[in-house]
Amino acid sequence: MRITIETLFPQLIASWAREALIGRAVERGLLEIRANDLRRFAGNRTGRVDDAPYGGGAGMVIRVDVAAQAIDEARSAVPPADEVVLLSPAGEPLAQPLVERFAGYRHLMLLCGRYEGFDARVEQFVDREVSIGDVVLMGGELAALCVAEATARLLPGVLGDAESHRCDSFSSGLLDYPEFTRPPMYRGLEVPEVLRSGDHARVASWRRAQALLRTARRRPDLLAAAPGDDERRVSAALAPDDEEET
Ligand code: SAM
Repeated sequence: MRITIETLFPQLIASWAREALIGRAVERGLLEIRANDLRRFAGNRTGRVDDAPYGGGAGMVIRVDVAAQAIDEARSAVPPADEVVLLSPAGEPLAQPLVERFAGYRHLMLLCGRYEGFDARVEQFVDREVSIGDVVLMGGELAALCVAEATARLLPGVLGDAESHRCDSFSSGLLDYPEFTRPPMYRGLEVPEVLRSGDHARVASWRRAQALLRTARRRPDLLAAAPGDDERRVSAALAPDDEEET
């Protein structure tokens, strides 16, 4: 899969694409990251891509022609961009079903703003706008990396254990169950006995119950999509004296 990131700061992307599991995926040819400098479409010698906002006010706005040329390039690339995504605080909130969709693409293009953002006409040229939450960053690069990393880890071969992302939070429709490692006792906090029992069936059942309990307590909105059996187990799990293991 190719992910093209259009930015005024391509070096921010380059260092991420070299490191850790993403770096390995790139080396192994599972993922191609292209960090392109939007200034190549500046159309002037200084590389200036912004201008003052019509109507006045603080800050500068990135020109529509700069973004449109970058989008045209991605749409006529081989393979062409399956989607062009504008990172924006006004976009739809980033969520797992969306990155699952992106992971099926051959080419995803991510467009990063800076300053006051892009001229609003850019919205007419993109397929969707995505926000990473109700916060304002200085630029779209970190938001684009959230999208890129969440997508990349779903690609076959990128994670060491192909199964590991299937039970992650959200992939299963629930929050993940709590995990523990050695030591078995630390400052009076004990690892649950069931996890040390060696009984795989009991462990699986405990984990499922804990995932339901965590989700019910912390993100009840996610349970709306849970199957009926699970709903019954949640009611049972939410008996007043039951505790989430932390
Ligand atoms: N004036 C804009 C507003 O209030 O909505 C904020 C512009 S912000 C300083 C500059 C760029 O950062 C945006 O064009 C966008 O690409 C990116 N950005 C900032 N916050 C973001 C968020 N929560 N999600 C996605 N992108 C974001």
